[in-house]
Amino acid sequence: MSESTLHLTADVLVVGGGPAGCWAALAARRAGASVVLAEKGYVGTSGATPPANTTLFYTVPGDRLQNDGMVDHRIAPAKGFIVRDFVRRVYDETTVNTELMTRWGYPWPRNETGKTFRGNLRGPDYMIFLRKRLLAEGVRILDHSPALELLTADGVAAGAAGITRRSGDRWEVRAGAVVVATGGCAFRSGVVGTHNLTGDGYLLAAEAGARFSGMEFSGQWALAPAEGGLTKGIIYFSGSFSDADGTPIPHPGVPDALAAGRSVHAVLDRADPYLEDGYRKGQPNIFVYFHRLGGNPFTDRYPVRLLYEGTVRAAGGLDVDERCATSVPGLYAVGDATTREKLTGAAMSGGGPAVAWCIASGTWAGQAATAFARQVAAGTAGLAGRPVQAIGGAGLRPAANPDPERTAEAVTRAVQQEILPLDRNYRRTGPGIAAALERLDGLWEAARDGLAPPAGATPRDIVRAREAAALVATARWILASAGQRTETRGLHRRADFPGLDPAQHHHLLSGGLDRVWVRRADPHEEAVAA
Ligand SMILES: Cc1cc2nc3c(=O)[nH]c(=O)nc-3n(C[C@H](O)[C@H](O)[C@H](O)COP(=O)(O)OP(=O)(O)OC[C@H]3O[C@@H](n4cnc5c(N)ncnc54)[C@H](O)[C@@H]3O)c2cc1C
Repeated sequence: MSESTLHLTADVLVVGGGPAGCWAALAARRAGASVVLAEKGYVGTSGATPPANTTLFYTVPGDRLQNDGMVDHRIAPAKGFIVRDFVRRVYDETTVNTELMTRWGYPWPRNETGKTFRGNLRGPDYMIFLRKRLLAEGVRILDHSPALELLTADGVAAGAAGITRRSGDRWEVRAGAVVVATGGCAFRSGVVGTHNLTGDGYLLAAEAGARFSGMEFSGQWALAPAEGGLTKGIIYFSGSFSDADGTPIPHPGVPDALAAGRSVHAVLDRADPYLEDGYRKGQPNIFVYFHRLGGNPFTDRYPVRLLYEGTVRAAGGLDVDERCATSVPGLYAVGDATTREKLTGAAMSGGGPAVAWCIASGTWAGQAATAFARQVAAGTAGLAGRPVQAIGGAGLRPAANPDPERTAEAVTRAVQQEILPLDRNYRRTGPGIAAALERLDGLWEAARDGLAPPAGATPRDIVRAREAAALVATARWILASAGQRTETRGLHRRADFPGLDPAQHHHLLSGGLDRVWVRRADPHEEAVAA
């Protein structure tokens, strides 16, 4: 071990400092654990939340009509798998924690009558507020410190190791339990806030044997101005669309028009002055683009594109139980890193549930990880002295000779070619999936054997190589699952199977590295069918 390795020990290590990771760290700390949080970027500005103004769902005590409505209106788009009681638990937990935020002094916006409005979290101030709270509670934050691999002790998660981007120093945190909070994976598609979301947490969990659920429900695409990356979709409910010549295109036809190579223009001409005012005040982030370029989106047509968000605010991810434990002992997962099928079925989780899930899953995982860490501590001489193994492979330690041609950039581009083109991945086909998987399997073997940071690598090179390996792995779990679901359901669209098949009301679990596997699992017994 080099002298420039920072060694830390904590009851709970949280990997990823978006809202889900922050809530996990806070819950663990409140349960009495010592906590380290390692974040690839900077806690407060990194991840999908800061650029997005997020709508938040929560229950209002005593308001049965509102609470039932909030659950019920999600049932139809979910197309099955949603579990009413579970949704209710998530929103109830969110309410409890928004109360906590009030006690901690969060400045909720107020309306003209002075009543607080909790239905919208303003990304930047919410995340900076959580950062300050973490520091006040004594959580040790490692900013700019991506985790590269998991440490295990006899198959139990026992910490992680990574690098500090600025100095190049290594870090190693030995912990009684680990929480994966690395968000979804958007394959570097250009969506603002998703640059760091490259599936790293999936890969380090899968290397320990963790499995996924619903990875086929990853067809989350969202509209953005053609030259912009902010995919805030709410405004397009007030939009009219047309092609370059002005021929109208109905809203549901926009993805197919774009996939066919037509240019599509939007104008938000269906927003009345009241709504326009609401958008401008409530979602000012959307209008930065138009202020910069000039033009008024409510009166002037502007070109749009669809950007891939992958598993960010989608439904698939690491399979977790009711306490957010993965299938690996001591390893927990939260937020966008997890499957959200019980919460939103096969549909996208954004628009309220995703942010509530970050709060609820973070809280549950933080508590459960603390309890697990206590058991570990009671059964060992001490966390620091436990023999551990660093288990990272692809992109870190090539199985054969490093191949100078196999650069992180080349591997990343190759994965993107399989996953980002609209005409390949928006509506999938059996032959298209099979051909892409064959190429990706070859890419995985080559990456596993030959992808490594070059000699004299900078910290950036080291991180990029591991990210590239994670992107290949994630694309394979997505497409292997997509190949097994021969129907169209929610975020999984098959051109060759355009209808929903009630006989396929089952989950698809997946996992594996060299050999990717997919198998069926029964839905929760309370799951609503499509
Ligand atoms: C445009 C847009 C609008 C949205 N609007 C809404 C909305 O209105 N309502 C709603 O409910 N949801 C919304 N969402 C979804 C919501 O933003 C996400 O669900 C939420 O940010 C997920 O939080 P998270 O903590 O799980 O992941 P993230 O916020 O993505 O955070 C993950 C963190 O992990 C870090 N990380 C990654 N890899 C590593 C590593 N190897 N080591 C250490 N750290 C790592 C990343 O840097 C990042 O900071 C929206 C999303 C987008 C993109």
